[in-house]
Amino acid sequence: MTEDQFETIAIHAGQEPDPTTGAAVVPIYATSTYVQEAPGVHKGYEYSRTDNPTRTALQTQLAALEGVGEGDDGGCVATSSGLAATAMIGYLLGPGDHIVLPNDAYGGTFRLVASVLTEHGIEWTAGDLSSVDGIASAVRPNTKLIWVETPTNPLLRVIDIAEAARVAEESGAWLVVDNTFATPYLQQPLSLGADMVVHSSTKYLGGHSDTVGGAIVTNDGELYERLRFLQNATGPVPGPFDAYLVLRGVKTLAVRMERHNHNAGMIARFLEDDPRVAHVWYPGLPDDPGHATARTQMSGFGGMISFTPSGGLDAAESIAARTRLFFLAESLGGVESLVEMPAAMTHLSVEGTDLEVPPDLVRLSVGIEHVDDLLSDLDRALG
Ligand SMILES: *Cc1c(COP(=O)(O)O)cnc(C)c1O
Repeated sequence: MTEDQFETIAIHAGQEPDPTTGAAVVPIYATSTYVQEAPGVHKGYEYSRTDNPTRTALQTQLAALEGVGEGDDGGCVATSSGLAATAMIGYLLGPGDHIVLPNDAYGGTFRLVASVLTEHGIEWTAGDLSSVDGIASAVRPNTKLIWVETPTNPLLRVIDIAEAARVAEESGAWLVVDNTFATPYLQQPLSLGADMVVHSSTKYLGGHSDTVGGAIVTNDGELYERLRFLQNATGPVPGPFDAYLVLRGVKTLAVRMERHNHNAGMIARFLEDDPRVAHVWYPGLPDDPGHATARTQMSGFGGMISFTPSGGLDAAESIAARTRLFFLAESLGGVESLVEMPAAMTHLSVEGTDLEVPPDLVRLSVGIEHVDDLLSDLDRALG
């Protein structure tokens, strides 16, 4: 267990100077294989699907940031995308097992569960998990996994992780928390009782919109062994270049998240006070239904905001088309601000289901540009 603080861990965990050259930065080990001294005698690396030193550094860094140090049980497995991480968790289940997920889970998570895992005999229920009753009433005797995303995408609902962990414990199910929106800087689900944390490192961890990746972190030694086995047996690993980009991005996570929090807080208040806006979803607003819970389990409210304009769908489309600094694009969590319309873009796959989102919903990923520039961009785009 390291006693260093988050910012220090991000820069040092798993990142000792390179033993052969003294390089201060973990090199990109662009190699698929490793020369052995004699059959089976090697320095710990045999083949890069199994292990690659750049990926090892990233896994050590992410585990430490979620509170799993080198001497602890558990660890991190990095994957080629966030959905590859989710799919790997799916491999822990079998026919007849049941999953509970929030009714506004990330569209891709929903699609994987509803269109792929069901084909393998896995059952699921989507419900409003923002209350303990909601979680408890979705659980069945065969529930093996409670999947929680908090804050949710795109409606920024907050789910009480400690309460969800209690329900999971009572029902003998694993609690998985998709921590993509909050990042370990703002929220540490394992310390609140979650069994596994999932990330799309494409988003805030990478932070620069230049790579796609994912990760699972657990503090359960047995689960970790199973995931390590699955990582090698099923093969969705990030290459060394992508592992390096996330490793580098995470070094600045703390300072970036501070600015995301600050900018998004200012923008949420601006939107809330503006008559051209009908409703704002942001857990940092005191009137937001998730605010009280967010305060107990998050150290900041993050950079994601959703809102509906007073002018309905036409107004939403024109805002999305008119911003200059907020690029109209899917994804989130990068240094540059993005705007999108979930119903027509990221959440198309949930149309006509319980997970459907308002058609005129506008989602912002607030970047780390100067907040005055972002505010004037939105002010102009609102028309
Ligand atoms: C993007 C995202 C995912 C999926 O990650 P990919 O890297 O795109 O596969 C999962 N959960 C959340 C909350 C996301 O935003």
